[in-house]
Amino acid sequence: MGNNLLTINRDTQRMVYSVHPDGFLNESVVDSLSSGVIFSDDNGILTFMNRKAETLLNVFKETVIGKRIDMLPLRTPLYKVMSEDCREFSLEMNIFGRIIEVRSSELLSPDNEVLGNITELFDVTEERRERRNREEFVAKMTHDLKSPLMVMQGYMQAIKLGMLGKVDPNLGKIIDDMARSGKSLHSMIEDLLDIYRLEMGLVQILRRSCDAAELLENCCRDRQMEADEFGISLDLTIPCPLPMVELDEKQMTRVFANIIGNAVKFTPRDGSIAISAIMQDDNLHIAVHDTGIGISEKDLPRIFTKYYRSENAAGFKGSGLGLALSKEIVEAHGGRIEVVSTEGMGSIFTIIIPIREQV
Ligand code: ADP
Repeated sequence: MGNNLLTINRDTQRMVYSVHPDGFLNESVVDSLSSGVIFSDDNGILTFMNRKAETLLNVFKETVIGKRIDMLPLRTPLYKVMSEDCREFSLEMNIFGRIIEVRSSELLSPDNEVLGNITELFDVTEERRERRNREEFVAKMTHDLKSPLMVMQGYMQAIKLGMLGKVDPNLGKIIDDMARSGKSLHSMIEDLLDIYRLEMGLVQILRRSCDAAELLENCCRDRQMEADEFGISLDLTIPCPLPMVELDEKQMTRVFANIIGNAVKFTPRDGSIAISAIMQDDNLHIAVHDTGIGISEKDLPRIFTKYYRSENAAGFKGSGLGLALSKEIVEAHGGRIEVVSTEGMGSIFTIIIPIREQV
């Protein structure tokens, strides 16, 4: 046997660890894997652990095989790993100073009968360290780009104001275009730096009691001109007065500006955008509904990933950072962003934030 130990389930495209009909498992193959592997049966009893799992969790399999997971000593790394549900999303855990990615899935027999659970452990310490170094380097470079850009912007402003002599009227428009491009480059640099700072936990969310209705009105006003230019209606409805909300006003303004800005950007001429804000339980729900290009099912799970832009967004300006940044900010407020969309029909982005800081 052994041939059918690791196979791909054609329906789910997931790795299947098959057990031979006689119950014989090719241990030497699983032992030579570079990832840790642990099996438990459908009664939650540990049935197998490979050598790598023993090393990563600093445990001898002889002392734990045959035991129920819920009977393992609570503070051990093995309990920590096995007690988490990592079926839908993998989890990263710090175990003895190393970063271990934990994934689990069903353990299936060759005829797809569920035999139990398989937990896989990947040591991603070096990858994460490298990624962090790379991100630090990019953040430093990005920060350094600001100084020369600011010098250029300063001179452009001085030229525009005639401080360096009379400007040929033919150059006026060119200088305006240069100033606009400089401003958009500046805001892209700020977005890049902010996302880095947020991910590294370097941004403090400063919650203060604020008037969310006023904040939304201001964000809509800022986009009104652009919407008018394309004949897009932009309506804000607040059916009941909103209470004062504890938010970081500056950061949340960026979130609303980004999501309303996207709605305007991705909605074709003569479309409509409806924004509503209501209280539900102790949460503020702000829904931004547009009749724009929509997002395909394939793209939906990826739009909050840094730099990701869907194919149908190719003709529109953007950096793919806005939603990633918005998600980080909303999550730092203890909230979440939900999206429902149909390609070609439109999208609804809903921002849900608790009105008070949760402790
Ligand atoms: P950007 O707008 O700069 O491309 P975002 O991070 O704000 O970056 O958005 C990421 C991607 O999500 C967009 O490129 C687009 O594919 C999709 N998207 C976001 N908002 C909408 C929307 N309202 N309608 C259609 N697609 C959207």
